[in-house]
Amino acid sequence: MPYAWPEDTDFILWELDVLNRACPVCGRGMYVCDHRYRRFHTLEGPVELVCKLNHCPDPTCPGHAHTTSPELEVTIALPKWAIGWDVLCWIGHRRCSRHWSIPQIQAELWDAYGIALSADSLARYIRHYQIMLAARQEDPAALRRQYQAVEEIILSIDGLQPEKGHETLYVVRELTQKRVWFAEPLISATADEVRRLIATAKAWALALGKPVALWLSDRQDAFVTGIAAEFPDVPHRYCANHFLRDVAKPVLEADSHAKVQMRKKVRGLRKIEQAVLKHPSAEASNGLREDDRQATFTATVAAAAGWSEVVGVDAASTVVLDYCATVRGILNDDQGGPLQPPGLRMAAALHEVRASLQRNLDEKKGGSPRSNSAGWPTASIAAWRPSARNKRRSATTSRTSRK
Ligand SMILES: [Zn+2]
Repeated sequence: MPYAWPEDTDFILWELDVLNRACPVCGRGMYVCDHRYRRFHTLEGPVELVCKLNHCPDPTCPGHAHTTSPELEVTIALPKWAIGWDVLCWIGHRRCSRHWSIPQIQAELWDAYGIALSADSLARYIRHYQIMLAARQEDPAALRRQYQAVEEIILSIDGLQPEKGHETLYVVRELTQKRVWFAEPLISATADEVRRLIATAKAWALALGKPVALWLSDRQDAFVTGIAAEFPDVPHRYCANHFLRDVAKPVLEADSHAKVQMRKKVRGLRKIEQAVLKHPSAEASNGLREDDRQATFTATVAAAAGWSEVVGVDAASTVVLDYCATVRGILNDDQGGPLQPPGLRMAAALHEVRASLQRNLDEKKGGSPRSNSAGWPTASIAAWRPSARNKRRSATTSRTSRK
């Protein structure tokens, strides 16, 4: 569909003439026989381009029936485009390098340049850009220049699935120059199809005249057989990333088992909380008559919000409830991968809680006048609660200490 220009568009007028005026057939000087007008967006504003069309003056020359267009026209905008190359590059760069979404590109084009393009048109221009980019990436001359100083080539192949349910994209990369050589989506990656990709990589290496020193992959069967067939003398190793991932599996399983064991051992939080809420001082001041579940809920919320004074739980009970909330947070923390196993972190945090409790008990035995809050704030436990809560807590404890 032709681009719909608003009626009041203010176009910059550009004119182009044919540079080589000699008739391509007979060599006579050609002259202007017609004009072609076209309009497109540039980053400098909307342009109306007038192309002067030439033809041979001799009616008997075949060059008379054909018109010649200005050579430079395609360097400004390709035929039928509503945008110039500058806008195409602007769009392509934002999509491919900065990963902007189409709506984001659309909005920014409008805000910054007053260029209105539909999402469909943008998708089409991005497709043009990608095709040109791929052609450029695979340009044999450019590739040869890049590989001139390289002595050996290291290749890798892997199947990626950008979206679940879609075909797998098989990517062949060269690792010394860190570049993708080519990629192809395969619906069914049979051994033959995979071998064809490996043969293509072999042809590329041959064209560059460089030896392949090594292949890397996750060593799935099709890769192993394909590489062995096309590169019988080239070693084929595990990719370190896949290797680490496979090694990590038993680590994570052991870690998960350890977490289960710790959760089995550290239990009864709810009972402790219920007991605290039945404590005479709490009951007296608050007159709690709800069932246990409700009481626990109130106490937990109170402890979490630091509202001990509101519900009337005394300071010592608040400390116990805080410990319970902390331990519950530690037991529920599941974040982390094989390099930061969550079970290890859980064990370390529980250990700190235990040490903190022990410090409190020791203080009590020695009859120290210091309040039990003195042994409380250790770094990792403090990290379990928001900082605002910490401030609150120190305010509460200092009040307690004065009592
Ligand atoms: Zn002619």
